[in-house]
Amino acid sequence: MTSTDEGKWTRSDGDSWDIVSSVGYTALGVSAQRAVESERPDALIADPYAKHFVLAAGEPHLIETITKRDAPQASPFEYLRGMGMRSRFFDEFFLDAAASGIRQVVILAAGLDARAHRLPWPAGVTVYELDQPEVLAFKDRVYAEQGAEPTSDRRAVAVDLRDDWPAVLTAAGFDPSQPTAWSAEGLLPYLPAAAQDLLFERVVELSAPGSRAAIEGPTGTLGMSQFAKVEQKYRSEKDTFGKIDITELFYDEDKTPPVEWFSARGWNTQGLDMFELADRYGVQYPDVPDDIRELAGAMHYLTCTLPA
Ligand code: SAM
Repeated sequence: MTSTDEGKWTRSDGDSWDIVSSVGYTALGVSAQRAVESERPDALIADPYAKHFVLAAGEPHLIETITKRDAPQASPFEYLRGMGMRSRFFDEFFLDAAASGIRQVVILAAGLDARAHRLPWPAGVTVYELDQPEVLAFKDRVYAEQGAEPTSDRRAVAVDLRDDWPAVLTAAGFDPSQPTAWSAEGLLPYLPAAAQDLLFERVVELSAPGSRAAIEGPTGTLGMSQFAKVEQKYRSEKDTFGKIDITELFYDEDKTPPVEWFSARGWNTQGLDMFELADRYGVQYPDVPDDIRELAGAMHYLTCTLPA
């Protein structure tokens, strides 16, 4: 399947996608949101590549999202500026980790995350980007067209995160004896529960003392069906994801909340919800209906640290 015109996407074990289909399309959608955030006068991030990804993919609705946006906020979700705050949180996480001396970074499900090209990394940082082959091939093509130079030693690792990715990562040069900064941003809803457990197990196994992980994930109180209900209630054609129902791509299964998983294994954890992020970044939070407020409060931005 190669285009959103085909509408519905059904998930299955071992499914794959390109940048305009299934879970690949979600990477393009969040890139569109980063492009919009980057253009704001009070932007929380600067992602000069985001718009080029969207333009190169040629998907009309997302091109319209970044070029003809008549209002800065299309849906209740988007006016919360979630993507700006989320991106800024992960930017700060990585720069703090690098400032503390960590030189190995693994971005799980990197999608069109351009941090390997846009963050001011200190010398000697290697950034491994893991995602499906066609997503990374598209990204490489756009970087080549833009003549983009990474600000780190970037290594694209084409792999499915439900497969044996540690072997592929190690073959690309990853060194488990060195502390690592990991991220899982916009990933967990798309993994079955067993695959999420296995992913975390592998992260823990590959982490030397002093490693850190930043994870976007629900607290125990938020089920994906609750997210889906609110999404469906408020979604509009104008949304970034107005042409698809992203909740069809989620695995709504009982999953161990990341905070519980990591704290049970000796990692120190600190979680922030959207409102705390808004306070941190000086974002004025608008009045929103209670169900949206509840949703925003239940999505956590977690920093986990394995003591050195
Ligand atoms: N982290 C990126 C960001 O925030 O911009 C991308 C987030 S996007 C919503 C979800 C990403 O997860 C897509 O790039 C998709 O290809 C990737 N993904 C989901 N399941 C995956 C899997 N099993 N293996 C590899 N990549 C996966």
